[in-house]
Amino acid sequence: MATVPKKPDTNSGEQGAPKPSKAPQSQDNENRRYEVVERGQIHTLSYRCYFRDVQTNTIVSPFHDIPLVNDQYTSAAKNGENVYNMVVEVPRWTNAKMEINKQMKLNPLVQDVKNGKPRFVNNVFPYHGYLWNYGALPQTWEDPNHIDPETQTGGDNDPLDVCEIGTTLHATGSIVPVKVLGVLGLIDEGETDWKLLAIDVRDKLAAEIHDLDDIEKKLPGLLDATRRWFKYYKVPTGKPPNKFAMDEKYGDREFAKRVIGETRKYWEKLAAGETKVEEKVCSIANTTLNNRGTIKKGDADKIVEENEKHHAEAAKLDSSVHQLFYVCDEEDRSNKEKKF
Ligand SMILES: [Mg+2]
Repeated sequence: MATVPKKPDTNSGEQGAPKPSKAPQSQDNENRRYEVVERGQIHTLSYRCYFRDVQTNTIVSPFHDIPLVNDQYTSAAKNGENVYNMVVEVPRWTNAKMEINKQMKLNPLVQDVKNGKPRFVNNVFPYHGYLWNYGALPQTWEDPNHIDPETQTGGDNDPLDVCEIGTTLHATGSIVPVKVLGVLGLIDEGETDWKLLAIDVRDKLAAEIHDLDDIEKKLPGLLDATRRWFKYYKVPTGKPPNKFAMDEKYGDREFAKRVIGETRKYWEKLAAGETKVEEKVCSIANTTLNNRGTIKKGDADKIVEENEKHHAEAAKLDSSVHQLFYVCDEEDRSNKEKKF
């Protein structure tokens, strides 16, 4: 196993190279019900992206308050299948590891931190940043105390991850209505980390894609590229390739729905206080659930206001964000068999 960094180019990220992210656009949000409230400066440790319910003018947690099921699109679908709200963390082709922060009250999106600096994922050939709009399903939680029978490991203590495979780019902070198509059982550094595959129900391809076979038909190569991306994305940082449950095969739509159902139950127990987790590890502060974590609207506003004011200009990016890495894995090279 070796990684071969390519000589960095001279692009600063502002000279023709792809921009790592753009400002959140609340018009992407379902029903325009939620708008983003930004604080600090993007691509620095000060950045926070909170959410406000525009109907009640109240700050909400994207982990606990935004509903898992999108009622409007679920009833419009008329096929009995749930349409879920997805919170977009990382837009396709970008590298900044934006994520729902579990520890902070009201769970703003922040950039993950590595070695005291904002974290960017490496570009493993032939990809740049993430292959999909990446995010999470609200009101789900992968319980670290639960050993999954398929993966034989505990949950990663995060909301359930989603790869949205539609053709549109969604900004950080978008709430996108998605239907679920399948799931990949990633075991990331010894933790269960299911990766749902889903598509925005408004996408031009959504009417033609219902399951894994349709993905392979309409988006040939995406399933294999997705598995490869998750296998190698941490190799440039010196970590071994990731492993997968179920012999690296995808679970189908029904399997994915079961994973959603289970992680929903774990979240319910977390929110109800049945599963004890320290507040500093996983905050259950919220403004809508009427449980022991619920706080008042004014107190929620104060939490947001305590942060640095929002800077309109993003921080300048280091050219290393666009550096390219090749992963040489003999097993991967000789394994031509498709596994979906
Ligand atoms: Mg996860």
